[in-house]
Amino acid sequence: MQRILIVEDEVDIANLIMFNLQRAGYEVLKAHDGIAGTEIAIRERPDLIILDLMLPGRDGYSVFREIRRDARTARIPVIILTARAQTEDRIQGLEAGADDYLTKPFSPKELVLRVNAILKRANAPPGAVEYEFGPFRFDKNAVRFYLDNEPVDLTGTEFKLLLFLCERSGKPQDRNELLRTIWGYSDEVHSRTLDTHMKRLRQKLGEHGALIETVRGVGYLVASPVT
Ligand code: CA
Repeated sequence: MQRILIVEDEVDIANLIMFNLQRAGYEVLKAHDGIAGTEIAIRERPDLIILDLMLPGRDGYSVFREIRRDARTARIPVIILTARAQTEDRIQGLEAGADDYLTKPFSPKELVLRVNAILKRANAPPGAVEYEFGPFRFDKNAVRFYLDNEPVDLTGTEFKLLLFLCERSGKPQDRNELLRTIWGYSDEVHSRTLDTHMKRLRQKLGEHGALIETVRGVGYLVASPVT
């Protein structure tokens, strides 16, 4: 059974999420402040974390940074939950590397759908285990990525995005298609998520980041590597 950690100080909301996740077949862990949330994440290593931003003790961004910094939890997908709807907050949350972002009030059903989508893509598909593309190497089983044989720490979402583009190199990929494939849905908010992920992905790839091209009015393209 997959385990999900909810870090949320509002008990009613935490219980509502817990109820819906349990009904969907997940085991749920709960923390009501940032310090306990960090401790439980590191100790229990859940399959996914739902993290509120406004928390007592230690705010959600600080918890998030700690989770990403610690090798034991760095790869756990995180959905950020917040009452704050300002655009700057959205961007800040996404640039910090969250896998998804939900603004309160949200529908518990929507949250469960997003959890399902993230966990589905976190579990690498069976089939070819290794995929090489120019200087890139993807270990699909371990969800590990190597650049010139050096490991590069990509999140599960970044891994999936880059792999998707590389496997379709030379063909521009439509933004909405990318959103639907990687995130499972497509809307205004996630249009921005896509760009934020691409920006971060390019940064992580250094000089090879230029392999990802923006195709105006369409989406993104990974050019075929020069051999
Ligand atoms: Ca809160």
